[in-house]
Amino acid sequence: MTSEVLIAGGGVGGLVLARRLALAGRPVRVFERADRVGGQVAPIRVAGVDLDAAAESFATRGGVVAALVAELGMADDIVTPSPAPAWLHRSDGTAVPLPSTGILGIPGDPAARDVARVIGRRAAMRARLDLLLPAEVGQDAATLGALVRARMGAGVVDGLVGPVVRGVHSRDADDVPVESAVPGLRARVLAHGSLAAAVASLRAAAPAGSQVAGIRGGMHRLPHALAADAVAAGARIETGRVVEDITADGLTVDGVRARGHVVRAMPDPNREQAGRVLTLVTLVVDAPALDRAPRGTGILVAPDAPGVTARALTHLTAKWSWIADALPGRHAVRLSYDCEPADAATTAARDLGVLLGAPVVEIEDAVAITWRRAERDEAPGMPVVGETAGGTGLAAVVGHAEGVARTLLDASSTSPDAPGRERMEP
Ligand SMILES: Cc1cc2nc3c(=O)[nH]c(=O)nc-3n(C[C@H](O)[C@H](O)[C@H](O)COP(=O)(O)OP(=O)(O)OC[C@H]3O[C@@H](n4cnc5c(N)ncnc54)[C@H](O)[C@@H]3O)c2cc1C
Repeated sequence: MTSEVLIAGGGVGGLVLARRLALAGRPVRVFERADRVGGQVAPIRVAGVDLDAAAESFATRGGVVAALVAELGMADDIVTPSPAPAWLHRSDGTAVPLPSTGILGIPGDPAARDVARVIGRRAAMRARLDLLLPAEVGQDAATLGALVRARMGAGVVDGLVGPVVRGVHSRDADDVPVESAVPGLRARVLAHGSLAAAVASLRAAAPAGSQVAGIRGGMHRLPHALAADAVAAGARIETGRVVEDITADGLTVDGVRARGHVVRAMPDPNREQAGRVLTLVTLVVDAPALDRAPRGTGILVAPDAPGVTARALTHLTAKWSWIADALPGRHAVRLSYDCEPADAATTAARDLGVLLGAPVVEIEDAVAITWRRAERDEAPGMPVVGETAGGTGLAAVVGHAEGVARTLLDASSTSPDAPGRERMEP
């Protein structure tokens, strides 16, 4: 027997599940609050060009997102960013290129010159101790900061990993669990004997040397393609539909109760969300100083850097060639803030000037958008897809949703009642 699955939330997690179930012939219905699907994978129009409002790339680890993109017929549109290094704007106001062999600032080769250039010779010498320590050292560390400190010393955490993790994840390295920051890292330290060798092995495993990739035209093409494929396979996707209450056996949408097999693909509506605030300001500027990409693909900013409130800057037209092609003669940059700046465009233009050491000549367009990140659910009590269960980032969300789809399909092939039949009640 096949019966309808009710999916609350039409972000990438919900859409991956909906598409997979629909392709397997299961009736599926998705309820999405917004007037478009995609959630945090969304377009934003700046200077007439559709850029990404939030997620702009995916981690290539495991190949799970690339495989999905290929299934959706967009394999030829997968693009890799410019290999130019990102930079670090330090607390003394100076900027240095980040070591080229690292992951999240952890050097794959602590003896490399570019490591000593960032953290100093003394700290770099300490980092090399990692190669001599027993592999077990740091295995009991709960956080990335603790692991790196145990193996490579405080200099690597303070000078590299801390600012990089803050720029990428908006969190302190001492608050980020090892496995969510770099899945498999701990096991690789044991297997390869040192943290540096573990990092080097992870980098070698990344396809074509790039740890991230994007989609020409923007990551926001992904949810659209997912939704179109799911609908073509028979799924019903309803936008502008607010789910007010969810239990394992039903949900309430616009005051109407639907009973059935519910999968939550959104944060728990019954739980107060104290998620972090993150504002992205995208500017399209006329700034000849940017023509030679003086800070590579972007800059991560040390927390106490003077005169800057941004935590990171991405030079979009230097990072992605499709954006440079779409904005000839101009530059697009994106600044990230862990707050809602009062006058976002002015603040971003000022920060851009400080980070480049040169003023911006003219701002053609500026768009700010503030996101609130959901927190992880510890005890969901029902099937859940999306980042609250699978972890942050598209690689985690897609891989997890594909796994949940397999589990549900296996269960429905062995049980006549699962997924359960949907029934709408007034
Ligand atoms: C600024 C920013 C930058 C990011 N950059 C990257 C990146 O470069 N690479 C990367 O891999 N990841 C990135 N991420 C993270 C990534 O985008 C997310 O982990 C992923 O998109 C989460 O997908 P999801 O389906 O779990 O959640 P969401 O995308 O949040 O989807 C949940 C959906 O549920 C809907 N919803 C919520 N409440 C209700 C309700 N009551 N009724 C009905 N529907 C509801 C929402 O409208 C939303 O569409 C970024 C995130 C942000 C915010």
